Amino acid sequence: MDKNKTMRRRILILLLITIFISCKKSEQNEVVKPQKIHVKLYVFDGGKIIANKLELFSEDTTYQGQRKVLADPYYVVIHPKGKLIWDAGLPENLVGLAEQFTDPSGAFTVSRKDSVKNQLKSIGLTVNDIDYIALSHSHFDHVGHANAFKNSTWLVQENEYNFFTNDSAKVKQADIYNLIKDLKKVRKLSGDYDVFGDSTVVIKSMPGHTIGHQVLYLDLGFEQAVLLTGDLYHFEENRTYQRAPIFNYNIPQTKESMKDFEAFAKSNNANVFIQHSPSDFERLKALINN
Ligand SMILES: [Zn+2]
Repeated sequence: MDKNKTMRRRILILLLITIFISCKKSEQNEVVKPQKIHVKLYVFDGGKIIANKLELFSEDTTYQGQRKVLADPYYVVIHPKGKLIWDAGLPENLVGLAEQFTDPSGAFTVSRKDSVKNQLKSIGLTVNDIDYIALSHSHFDHVGHANAFKNSTWLVQENEYNFFTNDSAKVKQADIYNLIKDLKKVRKLSGDYDVFGDSTVVIKSMPGHTIGHQVLYLDLGFEQAVLLTGDLYHFEENRTYQRAPIFNYNIPQTKESMKDFEAFAKSNNANVFIQHSPSDFERLKALINN
């Protein structure tokens, strides 16, 4: 081998070693970014409600003689650490009825097309895949399929739990109690609760509609976080004018919660979705399907 060839080979080897070392160095200098937590939301149709006596949704006569169609969705949140179902639609005994059902008082006409089992199947899940169930509150249009989640942990405000499961409630509010009675794994909350401990899925206590009513904050990695109202508001006008239904547990407390909610939404630049609003139901579906 001539001298020049040997020299060239040495230079090439040196060059390769230099490149290798500099690569290693740049790897070491790279800032390790915290991994973005990926939270996914699904929204499902838990039925339809026609409010035949809209005057019930205000303390005055504003809505006298009006009716309104309300959506009744429920939600599935998929987090790397677990799965949460938020709200439980209308009772499943409505599924398959030939006609809509109107309650004896005539206030509500309700219907539901599909069961939670079928709906979860559409995203490849079963009821046993759901780790947590949380209800915005325990009214008939939010507890519908709750019993199906008897293996999940129920995240409920302690006062709400006591109010709807005490001995007298078991009799006087049997229609509600019978839909939640199988939830035996209970985590009682007193105030806000960060479900997975990383601020992406947070239950916010907003009492008044019921004694332990709550709303849900979701950071899905979008420009704005999603904030689900529960029944703090049933439709847009009630948010605009801060009106409360006359059947609320505590109206002054509801008004306080409305103030807290708006301040929280503003300071967190949250995108608010009124759960019973048919247009917000469509708006949310469009947002999460993009
Ligand atoms: Zn409701």
